[in-house]
Amino acid sequence: MDLSIVIPIYYEEENIRPLYRAVTETLDPTGLSYEIIAVDDGSGDGSFGILKELALQDSRLRVIRFRRNFGQTAAMSAGFEAARGAVIVPMDGDLQNDPADIPLLLAKIREGYDVVSGWRRDRQDAFVSRTLPSRIANGLISRMTGVHLHDYGCTLKAYRREVLEGIGLYGEMHRFVPALASRVGARVTELPVRHHPRRFGQSKYGISRTMRVILDLITVRFLLSYATKPIQLFGKWGIYCFLMACGSGGATLYMKIFGGHSMNRNPLLILTAFLLFMGVQFIALGLLGELNARTWYESQGKPVYAVRERLNEPDDQA
Ligand code: UDP
Ligand code: MG
Repeated sequence: MDLSIVIPIYYEEENIRPLYRAVTETLDPTGLSYEIIAVDDGSGDGSFGILKELALQDSRLRVIRFRRNFGQTAAMSAGFEAARGAVIVPMDGDLQNDPADIPLLLAKIREGYDVVSGWRRDRQDAFVSRTLPSRIANGLISRMTGVHLHDYGCTLKAYRREVLEGIGLYGEMHRFVPALASRVGARVTELPVRHHPRRFGQSKYGISRTMRVILDLITVRFLLSYATKPIQLFGKWGIYCFLMACGSGGATLYMKIFGGHSMNRNPLLILTAFLLFMGVQFIALGLLGELNARTWYESQGKPVYAVRERLNEPDDQA
């Protein structure tokens, strides 16, 4: 199979049919063999019913229905895990991404890139609450991950399937996949894509998502440095503090014993105590960081969602 389109769906009942039509009308003439994987992330409206109706008529439309709302990233990762295509293209379920861009992304993949990230150059969302914070976040992510893209948050991307293998996603992490993939040698590029205002339904996000993105960024930055620098940051600082504590403790003792200095209210005592305390704390933090990183890597296999039912499951996976 050439292509898997992965679409997270949360309260999109009015968008599903037009989106399905647009995707099939774009892809059918290309002659590519493809599947559409719609992941219903616990919608309480008619979304699943509509997906089911369409799936009965078209076996290329696979549906994964979550037990409850797990969030867009979980929905996307369920789709990635189920996908069989050589290339995987996630896109929003609200028609804000344009299926007409899919062939352009595929052309870039054919040029030899492993990840092609959409760039909503002309973003059609509220400026103050969405576009502005996302510009700031993009600048930060770009600086901190060393992978320079204009628009990490754009769902529309194309991945060669290998680069997604072994990348576990949670939180708001779907946007960091290009950075994580580039660390293991993926060739990453970006491509301006169209963006439309939402026609039906509402966005489920506001400014609080930006906070979540920033927290995830700090975590990702940390994890990326684990991959390149084996010595833990905090552990290293801890050892420096501890060594300085030994130095200043030694100096204190020397002054007391050989210099006859009074240690009453001597700032060296306070410094020694402080450095010792910091050293022990930081070493402990470094250790925790290390254990945490291990846990993170080892937990990669665990799904972060629960599935109620699957439609049009291919035989080999049913
Ligand atoms: N979405 C989801 N689970 C959620 C929130 C959103 O699957 O908890 C889906 C939603 O249906 C849409 C995509 O994620 O397909 C992007 O969501 P939205 O349009 O609300 O975000 P925005 O475009 O405003 O960033
Ligand atoms: Mg949207």
